[in-house]
Amino acid sequence: MNKVVTRFAPSPTGFLHAGNYRTAVFSYLFAKHTGGSFILRIEDTDTARSKKEYEDNIYEALAWLDLRSEKTYRQSEHKARHRELLEKLVAENLAYVSKEEVKNEGDREEVIRFRNPGGLVSFTDLIRGEITTDVTDLGDFVIAKSFDEPVFHFAVVVDDSDEGVTHVVRGEDHISNTPRQIIIQRALHLETPQYAHLPLILSPDRTKLSKRNGARAITDYRDLGFLPDALFNYLSFLGWNPGDDREYLTRDELIEAFDISRVQKGSAIFDETKLLSVNQHWMRQLSDEDFLAKMMDFVNPSLSIDSEMLGKAVSLLKERSKTFGEAREMLSGELSCLFEQPCLDKERLTAKELPSHPRMTVLALEGLLEPLKSLPEGASPEAVKLTIMPVANAEEAKEKGGRGAVLWPLRYALSGQEHSPDPFTLISILGKEESASRIRKAIAILV
Ligand code: GLU
Repeated sequence: MNKVVTRFAPSPTGFLHAGNYRTAVFSYLFAKHTGGSFILRIEDTDTARSKKEYEDNIYEALAWLDLRSEKTYRQSEHKARHRELLEKLVAENLAYVSKEEVKNEGDREEVIRFRNPGGLVSFTDLIRGEITTDVTDLGDFVIAKSFDEPVFHFAVVVDDSDEGVTHVVRGEDHISNTPRQIIIQRALHLETPQYAHLPLILSPDRTKLSKRNGARAITDYRDLGFLPDALFNYLSFLGWNPGDDREYLTRDELIEAFDISRVQKGSAIFDETKLLSVNQHWMRQLSDEDFLAKMMDFVNPSLSIDSEMLGKAVSLLKERSKTFGEAREMLSGELSCLFEQPCLDKERLTAKELPSHPRMTVLALEGLLEPLKSLPEGASPEAVKLTIMPVANAEEAKEKGGRGAVLWPLRYALSGQEHSPDPFTLISILGKEESASRIRKAIAILV
């Protein structure tokens, strides 16, 4: 078999979303699995709708996803070749120039129409099997608006052939275009590539994935702090799986495992919640050093961060964040107490105080100071828990619900936050001196 050549052929007429890039990922994986090559062709023949900012966004997104192409070009660079073959078809009477009335204006404009031979056209789709269409009803369809303005069907056919594309991997929305493109190939005596039409990608509400129902540009995921390999992993599972129970595969494992015959026919759902969990999985696989380095790319420079404390907080960040953007927010949100003194609100501090025990919060907090002293330096959260829980349990014995009356003010005194890690973890990270000092400050507010 000849070397496989696939291509990704986006039109730069808007920001491409995950569904579009899934096509790129499958096309890339298929080529790489067989040691073939992958081409990027920017389909910019629609000059009115193509925009440079969208084209640049495609380059940026593919670079971020590390989807490298052996060759990159714009379709418009092949204008001369398109013209040459249009002229050839017209000269051979396989296409003709037709003067047509422009709607409402009485003017006439020229278009180039393909002489459709009609009849049944069949091709074997690698995912859907044999597909047969009667092309008679298509009539003599337009293949160019002028010799310098080929339409999509014509330009695609010429370029795929010139680039030696062996496999056209594209979205299912193109199935109905394929028979048209095959009859153009036949008229030009070009080889018909193999086709693989990928299932659609839907939003969780089963409507087509689009900007309107929240589809983001792929570069938005970069800006939110996703790992490109996590997104790559997730996209490769939209309509495909390796046939075993693995869910998390590296890029090399995906290339190794990819098998186009395992692509499903039914549509796939793009679920951001699942994507977040895949991202979290890959974030957790990073070494602490790598994790912090990537997170620092997202840190607000005005935040002064104690690097020693950051080293201690990394396991909490890994446990609690699903993107680096979230991790960054935690530094100034629920984990800010590790880097700065909490601001305490008296009302919040006593929020769990029971009416039968007036001033019990002070007592509860005071009761923690002695046990804290007994802790060794660098005690683990488990060791802290073993020391603190008997105090909380003793409260509970006195009054139902009393445990919270100790643990809540303790956690709040340490963190100043509604949501924060548990107090044992906080004490373990802050150290017993700092923890005792925060507890004393809380007591001072109350008395
Ligand atoms: N430019 C077309 C699109 O963006 C893709 C053409 C193709 O893959 O054949 O939908």
